[in-house]
Amino acid sequence: MRLGIDIGGTKTAAVVLDREGAVLASATAPSGRGNNDVVAQAAHQARRVVAEVGGPSAISSAGVCIPGLVDTVGGTVRHAVNLDVDDLDLGRLLGDALGIGVVVENDVKAAALGAHRLRKRGLDDTLAYLNLGTGLAAAVVHAGSVVRGVDGVAGEIGHIPVGGDVLCACGQTGCLETLASGTALLRIWPEAPDHGWDLFGRAAGGDGAAVLAAESLCHGVALAIQVLVLGCGAQDVVVSGGLTAMGDPLLEAIRAELRVRGEASPFLASLGLPDRVSFIATDVPVAAIGAAHLVRPAATTPEVTTWRS
Ligand SMILES: [Zn+2]
Repeated sequence: MRLGIDIGGTKTAAVVLDREGAVLASATAPSGRGNNDVVAQAAHQARRVVAEVGGPSAISSAGVCIPGLVDTVGGTVRHAVNLDVDDLDLGRLLGDALGIGVVVENDVKAAALGAHRLRKRGLDDTLAYLNLGTGLAAAVVHAGSVVRGVDGVAGEIGHIPVGGDVLCACGQTGCLETLASGTALLRIWPEAPDHGWDLFGRAAGGDGAAVLAAESLCHGVALAIQVLVLGCGAQDVVVSGGLTAMGDPLLEAIRAELRVRGEASPFLASLGLPDRVSFIATDVPVAAIGAAHLVRPAATTPEVTTWRS
């Protein structure tokens, strides 16, 4: 059985999967703050689910994911800002607490792996995962593994500048994230919390700011999907994150935006983008499931061939 732990900005989730990948046990609690509490809460939730399936001897592997810059070889994380973690030796400390080796990965990348396994895609498939939360993040699974690139930066499409004059948190102007994210939605429609985030209901009722926010969101998400499909050839684009709690109205609006784009371009229409996009329900612990599927990366450096002319 595999153990997976997702240390999120607000909550920590743990799951145990059986050999077929089915969830046998799960637990969730508010995340700790600061290095010690983050590790202690993750260990506590892990012990809860492990106890449910017969104890530590039943667990064959363990993985954990967390926001921030993750060194998958060293098992460390830096700049997990929302957790008050600046620099944490997460793999070693959690491994010592649980008595098993723990593989560490970034949360969005682990969620992409979880989505790939939940969709039961094979090694030949390429799947892109788009997280619509406070920000806009993405990751790609190819040949069964997450594409990381140097410093794990592959898939950070939220910071591709696409136009406009809005300053992004990253320091650039006009990033995709300034069009499609919870932050963008609140900037354009500050009353969102007062109306229970009923974006499409309020837009249909004639709320001008909600109309503009919905247009920006759908335009940005459609652009993100197009970038992911053209950039990596993904057959599937699986969307999750807090904003997908809007459910079918958001999914249908995104598909409608993709259809409109296809009407103007036979090339885009041929890609069938509306059929490639789907949501994963927000109550599915997709990142913890992905963490359970992590495998330890190779620490070796490939041989370099030099050429003398
Ligand atoms: Zn940016």
